[in-house]
Amino acid sequence: ATDRPSSAASLLERRTHSVAEVQEHYYARPPRIERGWRQHLVDVDGRAYLDMVNNVTALGHAHPRIASAVSRQVRRLNTNSRFHYGAIVEFSERLAATLPEPLDTVFLVNSGSEAVDLALRLSMAATGRRDVVSVREAYHGWTYASDAVSTSITDNPNALQTRPDWVHQVDAPNSFRGRHRGADAARYAPEAASVIAGLVAAGRPPAAFLAESFYGNAGGIALPDGYLDTVYDAVRAAGGLAIADEVQVGYGRLGEWFWGFEQQGVVPDIVTVAKAMGNGHPLGAVITSRSVADTYRTQGYFFSSTGGSPLSSVVGLTVLDVIRDERLQENAREVGGHLKRLLNGLGKRHPLLAAVHGTGLYLGVEFVRDRATLEPATQETAAICDRLLELGVVMQPTGDHLNVLKVKPPLCIDRESAEFFVAALDRALDELGH
Ligand code: PMP
Repeated sequence: ATDRPSSAASLLERRTHSVAEVQEHYYARPPRIERGWRQHLVDVDGRAYLDMVNNVTALGHAHPRIASAVSRQVRRLNTNSRFHYGAIVEFSERLAATLPEPLDTVFLVNSGSEAVDLALRLSMAATGRRDVVSVREAYHGWTYASDAVSTSITDNPNALQTRPDWVHQVDAPNSFRGRHRGADAARYAPEAASVIAGLVAAGRPPAAFLAESFYGNAGGIALPDGYLDTVYDAVRAAGGLAIADEVQVGYGRLGEWFWGFEQQGVVPDIVTVAKAMGNGHPLGAVITSRSVADTYRTQGYFFSSTGGSPLSSVVGLTVLDVIRDERLQENAREVGGHLKRLLNGLGKRHPLLAAVHGTGLYLGVEFVRDRATLEPATQETAAICDRLLELGVVMQPTGDHLNVLKVKPPLCIDRESAEFFVAALDRALDELGH
């Protein structure tokens, strides 16, 4: 053993012997990251990168208030969540207070996958049914149930062929490149409602309709106006529940709204959240009404050893404090708006850059080879991400064609860093002849 960290290449070699191969890492030849500070990362060679993809570390890396809250709490108490402890109650109250009535009852878990799993089980317990409707091209997690409702072929190339029979799909409501584009996108909602009506007619009324409330996996495309209103009405009319997966888009990232469903003017029956709420610490939650939560009794009791532990609850409280005190939601609106304007400007000079989706600090930059056919520029997007890394920016593609840059930096990013990213992208597009 040596005190000096090994090179990125030799660590990668060691990794192949101990870490499951399917457990992914960014880049074929990744830098070895050693530290972070705000929206920046530093590798073992002292090279700094701008982190433009990190929607987990929402407050920024190495936040001093998280560091001191964690260290204080670890010295004081950390144990399973069954002890009667102040921070658990306080955090649940604060979380519920961010949501409209009747969403007042909290389950604390450790991840987004767990939250989605629990939300599905709650919907099944509340309705006594087992069929679920989800949206194509979505990702909701890796556990058995959260994976079952995920159909993103980027995450699983066989996703569409291998869903269990209780999972039913509606079209991806993509107004840019889906079956219905532009104004025609208004047709997705009535079509989804008729899938639900078809299930009722077939004697398999659904327990729930589950969707991200802002269409994340495809690159932050807003759902068509009124989409959730129509589909939630349809599922409720059929006696099912509406689940909003806010794991990626909730918690202030959209700038204008703390929760994605607010953008659609609806209130779900069950909300799932994770990622940003722990700033990298494993923390997730399901929030629902008291009456839905109580139906879980039919399944036995609910216990997660470390879900909402004293430490996790203190982290959760501190994250909410920092979002408020540093006005991070407002920053997402201001810096995100500036960034979107600059990116749209690039689109005027680079034909490859066809659209900038999203809002706040949840943007998707979509590259196409032809603006009429929308042929996805998949290889070009990969080359752009590789060049951006050399230029000091961490960026990754998303979407079923991997032709959209997922722009989701820590919410503390400033204008200067946003401009640095746009300049690097401009340069990469020039160099690659786009
Ligand atoms: N839902 C959505 C929308 C997600 O993006 C993710 C993670 N990418 C999950 C659920 C699963 O969360 P986790 O990785 O914390 O299990």
